[in-house]
Amino acid sequence: MKNYPAEPFRIKVVEMMKTMSREEREAAMIEAGYNTFLVKSEDVYIDLLTDSGTTAMSDKQWAGMMIGDEAYAGSRNFLHLDATVKEYYGFKHMVPTHQGRGAENLLSRLKIKQGDIIPGNMYFTTTRYHQEANGGIFKDVIIDEAHDSQSEHPFKGNIDLRKLQALIDEFGAEKIPYVCLAVTVNLAGGQPVSMQNIREVSALCKKHKIDIFFDATRCVENAYFIKKREEGYRNVSIKEILQEMMSYGDGCTMSGKKDCMVNIGGFLAMNDDELFARVKELVVVFEGMPSYGGMAGRDMEAMAIGIKESVVYAYIAHRVEQVAYLGDRLMEAGVPIVRPVGGHAVFLDARLFLPHLTQDQLPAQTLAAHLYIESGVRSMERGIVSAGRDKKTGDHHRPKLELVRLTIPRRVYTYAHMDVVADAVIDLYHHRDEITGLEFVYEPPMLRFFNARFKPIEAK
Ligand SMILES: *Cc1c(COP(=O)(O)O)cnc(C)c1O
Repeated sequence: MKNYPAEPFRIKVVEMMKTMSREEREAAMIEAGYNTFLVKSEDVYIDLLTDSGTTAMSDKQWAGMMIGDEAYAGSRNFLHLDATVKEYYGFKHMVPTHQGRGAENLLSRLKIKQGDIIPGNMYFTTTRYHQEANGGIFKDVIIDEAHDSQSEHPFKGNIDLRKLQALIDEFGAEKIPYVCLAVTVNLAGGQPVSMQNIREVSALCKKHKIDIFFDATRCVENAYFIKKREEGYRNVSIKEILQEMMSYGDGCTMSGKKDCMVNIGGFLAMNDDELFARVKELVVVFEGMPSYGGMAGRDMEAMAIGIKESVVYAYIAHRVEQVAYLGDRLMEAGVPIVRPVGGHAVFLDARLFLPHLTQDQLPAQTLAAHLYIESGVRSMERGIVSAGRDKKTGDHHRPKLELVRLTIPRRVYTYAHMDVVADAVIDLYHHRDEITGLEFVYEPPMLRFFNARFKPIEAK
């Protein structure tokens, strides 16, 4: 039998959860327009909407909050964070930002010109938004296996070097300001990128003088997969793997709300002195002084401590294996999920789960709504609704994958909670024939998944 590591922490503070009847949950879902983003947190039993900013901080991080230095400039917590980022990520410069998208905004504004091409290993919603808002065109260069939910490739986040080379040949390297390399790839199911692939992408980019900026949001989870799956890394520490990964890039955007283990924050890091000078000018306009960038001193302290805790083996092993546990239970019951299970979430394959729905009947949105109604478990759609519309044609982007993401917050839930979730999904799977699709009643123009509203399609 597989060995799942027990929680490497004990519980010091508890937060009671509310339980509601099925009728109450159904009423709450109707009120929320069948969008799990619009359900009140209080009405949720187990909240797997996201692992973003939902981490339980440690006693040391909370203690760090008490030594927040809220000076407008030169806060000691900034100096601590600055030194920590430089040590663990290895880049020469950094500015804090209010969260990951703040860093994406700065980077996109400074690096992208009208008509530029930004290759990436699958898009991320806010990342692509900022690239496109600055005149760029995102091009997906992830390997084909990433689009196949049943492929067992161990590094499904890898970049396909031939696809990247083809873009360079077609548009010219001068049209490509940087490659956006996500580790792990959220929308592919939290799939990792191998060190070998990072190395090869780096070599190709060096040859053509193209920068690499990591979307480092879940880089520690990626490092764990490299340690487990890649030849030659079994005896290398997570910290050293992280440092080596980052050494192949020119900088990174980071959402502190994920692998830095805090509830809010982020940063933009880079090696280029000249770029850093321009970042320092722009950060003042959008975030704040370069020494706080939209973060309170206490939050910078918590993030510095969180970065150190994130690379502790006992933590990251439990985190990733707990996710695997949920995935294994669902697979054993025959529930279709993205394989192999990624680092932060289990993704239900809604096309296979609800084969009687077309993509226009929003299978993933439908499944997420019903899972909440049946069990109080909150999840998130990652399919046609999240993908939005093409800027030029106005048509829906039509992603191959229609997924429901069960995202596990860090250090929040136990294996017993995972069992509750698994039982609820399995039960719903047995009743899947009774589920009918949804249609839009309100569609916001940008990042529509956050605020869209839906209603059940009526039988004709
Ligand atoms: C969350 C996330 C971001 C954006 O970070 P925020 O802190 O939410 O602004 C960017 N990329 C990926 C892959 C993410 O998961």
